[in-house]
Amino acid sequence: MLSHTTRIGIIGGGMGGLTAAIALKKIAGIEATVFEQASQLDEVGAGVTVAPNAARVLDRLGVLEPIRQAGAIPAGHGVYLDAMGHEVTDAAWEDTARQYQNIGMYRPDLIRILAEHVDPGSIRYGHHMTSIRTLDSGVRVEFGNGAHEQFDAVIGADGVHSIVRDTAIYPTKPVYSGYICYRGVVDASRMPKDWPRISQVWMGHERHFMFYPLQQQHTLYNFVACVPSDRPLKGPQSGPAEAGELAAEFTGDGWDPKLQHIVGLIGKTFWWALWDIDPLPIWTRGPIALLGDAAHAMIPHQGQGVNMATEDCMALAFFLREADSVSDIPEAFRRYAAVRMQRAAILQVGSRRAGAMFDGQYQFKNLAKRDIDIRAGRDFRRRAVFDYDVLKVCELALQRFKRI
Ligand SMILES: Cc1cc2nc3c(=O)[nH]c(=O)nc-3n(C[C@H](O)[C@H](O)[C@H](O)COP(=O)(O)OP(=O)(O)OC[C@H]3O[C@@H](n4cnc5c(N)ncnc54)[C@H](O)[C@@H]3O)c2cc1C
Repeated sequence: MLSHTTRIGIIGGGMGGLTAAIALKKIAGIEATVFEQASQLDEVGAGVTVAPNAARVLDRLGVLEPIRQAGAIPAGHGVYLDAMGHEVTDAAWEDTARQYQNIGMYRPDLIRILAEHVDPGSIRYGHHMTSIRTLDSGVRVEFGNGAHEQFDAVIGADGVHSIVRDTAIYPTKPVYSGYICYRGVVDASRMPKDWPRISQVWMGHERHFMFYPLQQQHTLYNFVACVPSDRPLKGPQSGPAEAGELAAEFTGDGWDPKLQHIVGLIGKTFWWALWDIDPLPIWTRGPIALLGDAAHAMIPHQGQGVNMATEDCMALAFFLREADSVSDIPEAFRRYAAVRMQRAAILQVGSRRAGAMFDGQYQFKNLAKRDIDIRAGRDFRRRAVFDYDVLKVCELALQRFKRI
């Protein structure tokens, strides 16, 4: 076990960085320091689904209960619908053991709960990392505010446009997916009383609309409307948007009137460019490692970005716990990457495939074939994604590493 004086810095205080701090403390007994560029806790006013594979990790970290209290457990399985609202298939929403379900979380609630589980003295806001350098012993990081620090190891959890990745691990150009999404929430009190308390996805030509409940009493519904756009290539990557602009994407005879009713209730929305990266060939270099979107940003069509980051955190903490001294950290990071890289790559590529399915661009636009594959994928998703127990995978991998 590493000494409790081991100094680990985490760059980025998003969901990945905060969960890493919790996991390092709980699993490996290390109090890491998180550096976040924002001046305070910050998250977009939209939703995120905590899936069973991450809920299992959060349960072991002692964070699941408050998340369940604050989040929406759907009333049952979700549905995939065609553009006119006809059901194509039901969707996986819980693990096979029925122990963990999808939880619809309002992002500001989730980030607040995670931050509450990190010692406040271990989070430094207003620290934008500008450079990172490996020294003969340790890693030096510098910040835009003039501060600098030296650590035994550094974890880059600084998101899709990661500076840690680009300057210390593997220079990468994120690729614009060609799609933006409109995001936001609808107040349930404005919706029809009998609206189903489940996740729904309407799949139309080149666009789709995802809608699911948030908060314990299902008081809000989250929407993510993905549409093609070249706007991000010309300027900003996100910003406020007119509700009418979003409504125009889902009007006409070809769209379910129930969906159009919901879209008509949207008052405030903002748009967000969807960036993607190809699976990276390496995630670690010596005492520096990546996690979350910095390591494996993916388009959001499987709702697994945060969930993969959460799995990463457990794996990283598990292998760090096995290290006896600072000189073992690079090997712990290599083992972490060996366990995580293939899993994340499958989800990265799977997210692209899911997007093509939802937007009717799959199998030469053969919707009948698309629908068969979506139905067939339901149980696979439950078993391969939701049942995945990253801790068990790490324990098995450790046995193999010890034999090598
Ligand atoms: C529309 C949409 C819907 C989604 N839905 C889901 C979902 O349902 N389920 C799911 O699991 N995932 C979902 N995702 C993906 C998920 O949001 C991301 O995968 C997740 O936020 C990644 O977390 P992260 O901590 O790795 O990165 P980020 O959330 O990007 O956090 C990175 C942090 O690092 C900070 N930072 C960046 N650079 C620096 C620097 N140089 N110095 C200091 N700090 C820095 C940033 O300010 C930020 O706080 C969705 C994404 C989108 C766009």
